Amino acid sequence: MSPSDTDSELGRPVQLVVADEDEHSFSLQEEALERLLLREAVQDMSVVVVSVAGAFRKGKSFLLDFMLRYMYSHKQGDCDSWLGGEDEPLTGFTWRGGCERETTGILAWSELFVVDKPDGSQVAVLLMDTQGAFDSQSTIKDCATLFALSTMTSSVMVYNLSQNVQEDDLQHLQLFTEYGRLAMEEVYEKPFQSLMFLIRDWSYPYEHPYGLEGGRSFLEKRLQVKQNQHEELQNVRKHIHSCFSNIGCFLLPHPGLRVATNPHFDGRLRDIDEDFKAELVNLVPLLLSPENLVEKEIGGEKVTCRDLLLYFKAYMKIYQGEELPHPKSMLQATAEANNLAAVAGAKEIYNRSMEQICGGERPYLSPSELERHHGDLREVCVRHFRAVKKMGGEEFCRRYQTQLEAELDDMYSAFCKHNDGKNLFHAARTPATLFVLMAA
Ligand code: GDP
Ligand code: MG
Repeated sequence: MSPSDTDSELGRPVQLVVADEDEHSFSLQEEALERLLLREAVQDMSVVVVSVAGAFRKGKSFLLDFMLRYMYSHKQGDCDSWLGGEDEPLTGFTWRGGCERETTGILAWSELFVVDKPDGSQVAVLLMDTQGAFDSQSTIKDCATLFALSTMTSSVMVYNLSQNVQEDDLQHLQLFTEYGRLAMEEVYEKPFQSLMFLIRDWSYPYEHPYGLEGGRSFLEKRLQVKQNQHEELQNVRKHIHSCFSNIGCFLLPHPGLRVATNPHFDGRLRDIDEDFKAELVNLVPLLLSPENLVEKEIGGEKVTCRDLLLYFKAYMKIYQGEELPHPKSMLQATAEANNLAAVAGAKEIYNRSMEQICGGERPYLSPSELERHHGDLREVCVRHFRAVKKMGGEEFCRRYQTQLEAELDDMYSAFCKHNDGKNLFHAARTPATLFVLMAA
């Protein structure tokens, strides 16, 4: 397992998370991770984690190799010709078809790049490659865990998709972001940082042009919440917006047939379409130029390499803990439980307060006074319900709020009846009392 010094100097992909597909479990390669993040020179630096995530054989490694070229060129002070020579084969994350086993897991580049940001601070940049297949029930659960882990630990998540954004892609994204959110100890407003949809082989440049601008207009349309849309589709969209501080999209052209089909293609620029190269030159600096680097933050705090190691371990432990239920039902169950608990808490407050105002032993109140108390308390209780942090999103929460309001009104009716009872009793007793008094 221990690499030779030359190996680590040259840089190579290291596996950080390994999937055991038969056992449906994951393990963290702690030693490898420690070697990476606890290096003297970087351990106390803020870390920038760029993760390229998606299914197999969609050009992730190919892209990451260009990202490596960019980082190495800048390290050597050469910022202009980073794309490389026409006949230079591409190396780094092994990307060539056939050479690579399709393993589910997270890989990282063994070298962290130290970059000076324009504000004078130094950050360490970690590149990650996350892959797995969402193709059957069991792999979906495995991958939700894996992608959640990658989303939680990265500052920029590049969601690598082929040709378009399908409804499935959005649902998977919802699944693993919710899975990630569940594992985080506190409920943050926006638990994750940047999400970049990267659409490969984009073939409608006349509708939405290549690049970031086209990506923005395309994504806006794709993520739009429409009135007549099915609730589930709406929820996916709202959920995605609620999870990330920043969402972007980049449309990348097809790299050309030699890249896609020639078995002897070795990544040299000569064989890659001009359109593709022109966009690549825009894409990579968007993700990696010093002014664009986004430091990893958790709960609003910047994370150092050393912290990141702890987070990796902590998150992994949660997923390795007692068998988590299927994420979708778990989400549903957790959101329901959150909301029901908040409803119960609010009702309790109402009941306790009303008991004190007009409970068993309390004197009769005029209906208008009782109504005023009810109105005030109802407002307090609904505010209490809304203030409790809950999962499931606004729409879901609204439903429970409506339920709460109806239940409070029912409780009010019961209190009214009870109060009227005291009045009736009072009224019925009055003549008798008078009679007794008169008789005396
Ligand atoms: P990974 O499994 O996602 O890491 O994919 P690879 O980077 O190993 O690439 C898989 C295959 O797709 C290789 O044969 C690449 O030459 C090819 N490839 C790389 N980028 C693209 C792309 O943008 N579009 C297409 N159609 N093929 C690509
Ligand atoms: Mg790969």
